[in-house]
This record gives sequence, C-alpha cells and structure tokens, in this order.
Amino acid sequence: MTGRERGTVQTGQGTGESGMRQLIAGNWKMNGLAGAGAAIAGAVRQGAAGLACDLVICPPATLLIPLAQALAGSPVELGGQDCHAAQSGAHTGDIAAPMLRDAGARWVILGHSERRAAHGESDSAVHAKVLAAVAAGLAPIVCVGESEAERAAGRHEAVIAGQLAAGLPEGFAGVVAYEPIWAIGTGRTASLADIAAMHAFIRARLAARHAAGAAARILYGGSVKAENARDILAVPEVGGALVGGASLDAAAFLAIGHACAQDTCIQANRG
Ligand code: PEP
Repeated sequence: MTGRERGTVQTGQGTGESGMRQLIAGNWKMNGLAGAGAAIAGAVRQGAAGLACDLVICPPATLLIPLAQALAGSPVELGGQDCHAAQSGAHTGDIAAPMLRDAGARWVILGHSERRAAHGESDSAVHAKVLAAVAAGLAPIVCVGESEAERAAGRHEAVIAGQLAAGLPEGFAGVVAYEPIWAIGTGRTASLADIAAMHAFIRARLAARHAAGAAARILYGGSVKAENARDILAVPEVGGALVGGASLDAAAFLAIGHACAQDTCIQANRG
C-alpha cells in the first residue's frame, strides 16, 4: 500500500503505466473458518515471495487477527470487507474502521455491489465510509459497477460517473475497482475492449477531479481466474484485480499474481 492510497501525501509515486505495481486483492466474502483460512493464508504467504505485484487478502473480520499473525513479516497485507462511517458507538453488528486497523488491516473494500444490493448502501454512505477509512489509516478500495440492464440500455458510463461523483470524496487517493455486477461470481467477464473503455473512462473522470486521480490504481473485478488474468491484467489502465471466488484457492490466487504485467519471470516464458 502506498501512502497516497492511505490518503496521505507522498511524492515520487508513478502512475500505473509508469511503474506502479499491480494490486491483486482477494475478497473472501462470508467464507472461511479459522482452520481453512489459516491454510489458505499460509499457502499464499509461501507463494508470495518474489511476486511483482502487491497482494491483499480481505477475509471475514473474525479472521483478521489470526491472519495478521500468520502473515506477519510477509508482503501479503490484509483488508476488511466493509466499515461503518462512525469511529465507534451504538451500531450493533457493525465494525468501525479503527477496529479493522487495530486488527491488522491496512485496506478496506467499500461499496461492493453485494453490500449495495443487500444492505441498501447508497453512494453517500460509501462517501462517508471512505472518509472514515482514510481517517483510520486504511486504504479504501471503492467498488463501482453497472447492472446488465444498465449496460444493455447504454447507461453504463452514466452509472459509473454517478457512483464516482457521489461516492468519492474530494482529493480521493485510494483504489477504484470496476466490477460489472453481472460479471461477479457468474463466470462471465467483460470483454477486453469493454474493460479498456471503462478503465479509460474512469481514469479520465478521476484525473479531471483531482491530481491524485491521475495515479490511482483502477482494478477490474468480475470472474477473474488464473485462466483469464493474464489477458485482463495486460489491458491498459488495469492496475490489478479484485478477485472473489478464485481468492479462496491459494494456487489460483497466486497464479493471478503471476499473471501481473510486471511479472518478468512469467513474461520471459511468454515467448
Ligand atoms: C467480487 O466479489 O468482488 C468478485 C469479483 O467476485 P468473483 O471474482 O467471484 O466474480
């Protein structure tokens, strides 16, 4: 994680195209008991040495503390899957950003479409959560994405523009994940041309709003697997991937890491 993504000012950061490492973030969702979680994290830790990308695991909150211990001293970082906008208080069942930070997280996924759909999360709620995350020293990964109907109606750019405008606070310096809703957990991915077009669109929107947007990492998410990662991660402006299902399989997750554009040992074998 860069200081810029945590919301602090840091000089010398390149853009994705000029040297920023790609970021592969695994979203375990509501999966993982202690034993299985430790086994996956241990295998990821073992395989992470020498990877040319940044790796983040976002387990259920119950596993943050044990996984922080299991991953201590490794380059693999941890993230939460959501946080409340308040620092503490009477919010039964919720988790505050400082709690995630205290448990060992450095990142937090916000505005995932499953939370927008199942918990009615609005863009203004996402906006407030981003502020809370940054205040706690967490780097936010803010998810945006259109439904299949919105894409069919040609409204995808308008939808994403609205989510960026209302969900991101002024000066946002975190990570954006473009996740077409219809590609999440379905085995379907957006075409490479559509990914390129949408990432360019998001880049332009971010850069127009603030200087940090020109260097923000923009991830693609939606059925990224070992088999398709290499092509997706080679698309211009793709700064990494947010991975759901495949992140529960250490070998698949690591293979996605090895598909990163900067992985020279893999590229040397690409002929
Ligand atoms: C996700 O949940 O953010 C996601 C991209 O899931 P999957 O990789 O399973 O489509």
